[in-house]
Amino acid sequence: MTGYVYHPIYLEHTCAGHPENHHRLKAIMELLKERDVLPHLQLVEPKPVSMELLERVHNPYYIKLVQRVAETGGGNLDMDTYVGPRSYEAALMAAGGVVEAVKAVLDGEVDSAFALVRPPGHHATPNRGMGFCLFNNVAIAARYALERDEVKRILIADFDVHHGNGTQDIFYRESSVLYFSTHQYPHYPGTGRITETGEGEGKGYTVNVPMRGRVGDEGYRRIFEEILWPIARRYHPDLVLVSAGFDAHWADPLASMLLSITGYTNLARILKAIADELCEGRIIFVLEGGYKLEVLSHCVLNIFYTLMGEEKLLDPLGPSPYREQPVDELIKVLKEIHNLSKQA
Ligand SMILES: [Zn+2]
Repeated sequence: MTGYVYHPIYLEHTCAGHPENHHRLKAIMELLKERDVLPHLQLVEPKPVSMELLERVHNPYYIKLVQRVAETGGGNLDMDTYVGPRSYEAALMAAGGVVEAVKAVLDGEVDSAFALVRPPGHHATPNRGMGFCLFNNVAIAARYALERDEVKRILIADFDVHHGNGTQDIFYRESSVLYFSTHQYPHYPGTGRITETGEGEGKGYTVNVPMRGRVGDEGYRRIFEEILWPIARRYHPDLVLVSAGFDAHWADPLASMLLSITGYTNLARILKAIADELCEGRIIFVLEGGYKLEVLSHCVLNIFYTLMGEEKLLDPLGPSPYREQPVDELIKVLKEIHNLSKQA
């Protein structure tokens, strides 16, 4: 059985005119209902994350700041990161929702899951919310998973078009989490150079794939098959978490990559195959960005089909109308930096 996390509180974090608003999740839920998928999935009920676990990732001073801004009616943490009156509760439930999804998978209640949570998380650092993110949902869930005896190593794959600077920061000096990110570069938030590979015990456990733009289905497929797959095999994770952002689609307004809905679905299929081969299919997708509603909702729908083992795929927007940039040179450099050359 495939699980999903959802709660109406996630719709109460919203801001009119902001791209990261409640209509994103509404569009997803409406399509899942329209396609009659929900009756075939198991709801994993979220709970607010415990303060103890939250403080293992975030500074107590920063947590209090988010609470205070929400309780005093809301405000902005930076130019593009808002906090509304219900945002603190929503953020606690978003992080807690991913934790519950991980728990459900590790306990065998579901085989895999997609956490449909908001606000997103991958830009949030220990001391700071930024890039529409308040608490780092994936990192908090990874911290929870590492407390369990059966989890020693976690692969976090992040295909959002933006670099997950927060997730990278949190695990930069550790080998128990391997962070892999494909992202547009240079672009927001400015981090994620190919030479950022971790430090100390974490050296080699951060894998950044920066791309100038205009990489599409074929380039992404090759990067996942020729770079991510061998790295995952070498690392042999006990759990796979995916920071699932859909803003690398060719029609997304915030970036200039050329993935299609079909291309995104194929990446999800590769990730599922990696989890099936290496960790008994234990994989949890976690919603991050994606601002074109039709793209967002169809990508999520197709990923549910993938997790359910169905071949079905809906792509109303079709392939990118633009020509894709080659990735041969990028793959060559990545293989050198991460010692994959012999497997070429
Ligand atoms: Zn993004």
